[in-house]
Amino acid sequence: MTKLLTAHFDEPKLHELETYRRLGGYEGLKKASQMGREALMAEMSKSNLRGLGGAGFGAAMKWSTVPAEAKNPGPRYVVVNCDESEPGCFKDRVLVTRSPHQLIEGLLIAAYAIDARRTFIFIRGEYEVQHKILQKALDEARTAGLLGECAIDLMRGAGAYISGLDTSLLETMEGKKAWPRQPPPFPTVSGLLGRPTVVNNVETLSMIPHIVMRGGEWFAKLGTAKSGGTVLFSVSGHVEKPGVYEFPMGTPLKDILAAAGGVKDGKRLKAVIPGGVSTPVMTADELDTPMDFEGPRAKGTFLGAGGVIVLDETADMVSVAHNIERFLAHESCGQCTPCRQGSFWHERILERGLSGGGTADDLATLERAGENITGKVICALGDTVGVVTRALMKKFPEDFKARFPERRG
Ligand code: SF4
Repeated sequence: MTKLLTAHFDEPKLHELETYRRLGGYEGLKKASQMGREALMAEMSKSNLRGLGGAGFGAAMKWSTVPAEAKNPGPRYVVVNCDESEPGCFKDRVLVTRSPHQLIEGLLIAAYAIDARRTFIFIRGEYEVQHKILQKALDEARTAGLLGECAIDLMRGAGAYISGLDTSLLETMEGKKAWPRQPPPFPTVSGLLGRPTVVNNVETLSMIPHIVMRGGEWFAKLGTAKSGGTVLFSVSGHVEKPGVYEFPMGTPLKDILAAAGGVKDGKRLKAVIPGGVSTPVMTADELDTPMDFEGPRAKGTFLGAGGVIVLDETADMVSVAHNIERFLAHESCGQCTPCRQGSFWHERILERGLSGGGTADDLATLERAGENITGKVICALGDTVGVVTRALMKKFPEDFKARFPERRG
């Protein structure tokens, strides 16, 4: 099975420039500058590369919305979103640890494509080891003259989950509170300091050298009609071999589970959260779902950032819902009332169920509250508050009925 990003993970010193170059690293950057911007954009377009941070927006489409220099003269930026904070997702951490030059090469190609001379890697504050690895790799690349006229600055986050969202990440970079912006304008038109800015995820950018070297069509054919290439899954929870697995887009969920050794201790599978805790749950009957941007959507959920969380027969779905809502309540930036209040009340009501005081009326309240949050807030965190518990209630009604019984007498 074709692997791209993890192909050389067996090399113990892949993080060092010498090893990366020996394996063909930075040839993509050279080829991109030889082919020119137009040809590069054409290959990107053919590749069907989708943004792999969760939104799934076409990468070439995003780049193409940056206004031309003639129309909007002045600086433009590329920002790497390495603020990986979604519970269940750890692929970016692995990519940066094992192959930092792959990311730097992809970033330099992206900067060339939109003619950006200044770029940034915004890394999660807790990723201290990865920060050091990236800094060392950047120093190596700079000393070897690979950066050319492009500056790359490393910035560290301060622990807010919400700054993983592109617009709040930009606010953070500007020294403000991590409050998501209400688009439009989108960052490619008005991003960092009001200038056109492409924000791409680590995995997305790491794919780019492979597209340049092997061609957009080749890359597209690895995946499905609408989602090209491969994708990394962070598999965790009740599995025998948790870890990061690379598969072609569209691989059935059951194959991903099998690669991770199946459910731990021979227990029965109860549920899978497919893309990190922001994505609605799937049942054990939905394992044939092809994992690309379209497959999970047909089941009412999302590929998200590929954070596959496996839950065995012992999982109590009320406890799962409570855990997620407590996290969201803690991380809500508080800007929108439905999200701020809704997440707080979800947590309280679910807590009541867990401590034995829940009633069926609470389920009706959760249903109504969820409906009144989703679609009425600025960002995806608020949408998640309304969606995640309702999906758990719908797919595992018995768990909820047990914790929220009909009132007697
Ligand atoms: S939905 Fe929640 S996290 Fe997003 S901007 Fe509104 S209050 Fe903040």
